[in-house]
Amino acid sequence: MILIDGKQIAAKVKGEVATEVRALAARGVQTGLTVVRVGDDPASAIYVRGKRKDCEEVGITSVEHHLPATTAQAELLALIARLNADPAVHGILVQLPLPKHVDERAVLDAISPAKDADGFHPFNVGALSIGIAGVPRPCTPAGVMRMLDEAKVDPKGKRALVVGRSNIVGKPMAMMLLERHATVTIAHSRTADLAGEVGRADILVAAIGKAELVKGAWVKEGAVVIDVGMNRLADGKLVGDVEFAAAAARAAAITPVPGGVGPMTRAMLLVNTVELAKRVAR
Ligand code: NDP
Repeated sequence: MILIDGKQIAAKVKGEVATEVRALAARGVQTGLTVVRVGDDPASAIYVRGKRKDCEEVGITSVEHHLPATTAQAELLALIARLNADPAVHGILVQLPLPKHVDERAVLDAISPAKDADGFHPFNVGALSIGIAGVPRPCTPAGVMRMLDEAKVDPKGKRALVVGRSNIVGKPMAMMLLERHATVTIAHSRTADLAGEVGRADILVAAIGKAELVKGAWVKEGAVVIDVGMNRLADGKLVGDVEFAAAAARAAAITPVPGGVGPMTRAMLLVNTVELAKRVAR
């Protein structure tokens, strides 16, 4: 059984990004990511701090606009418009969730697709679905694909099951596996026989948000198991959506939680940002 070490792969990806950032700097382009945070959600504050620290590590300049929770939507849209027009800003990221009075979709849609560091803009989502290359892709599924590549798992011809159909993980994950010629099934809360679906999967990606919902005994012998879930138990322990020990006993390869997909998501944001900078520097 191979443990797919997300921390190690993320470190490799960061090294690659740092090289690209330096190459751009040598051509007079300083890669920049701007993060917009609204209100005082404690988890958002931690995430943004982590993202800024990652930027610093690879030489990307990060700027944070921290606005009060009472900020009007029009004001937020005006800020996005200014950032869209600012040549020093290559990537824009709006940290979610936004306060209730703000229409999240309207804000995400206002980000220029050419500066969309998260890959959530409808243009970029559409580009993924019809196979336009060179546009930013959602970080979590992009990180999973890199993990599969590093583990030398070729999805071609394999049965892949994605459990979860969110816009940020499940759906783009399914599109990326399909692009790489897997036979893809998407399961969700109304799926009739989840155990049966899991039992047929050569590649299983769990993105549910329910601690150890996928039982190890369901996993097909020799399957590759990617656990996106991050669930905090009452005792503070972080666990995935898959019963790790029992699944690891059957799997050919598996990602741990923590130290699996999480670090890859963070690393892929840096990849998206430097790729956006390269596009304008061309
Ligand atoms: P969402 O809550 O948006 O989506 C969860 C999905 O799981 C939904 O499609 C839902 O189905 C499905 N689901 C819920 N219950 C069941 C069930 N009993 N059986 C089958 N499917 C079920 O979550 P996200 O996609 O945003 O995140 C999923 C998990 O991944 C979370 O734990 C989150 O913390 C983690 N995450 C981790 C990241 C990382 O970097 N490691 C990044 C992003 C997320 P339905 O659509 O029918 O409601």
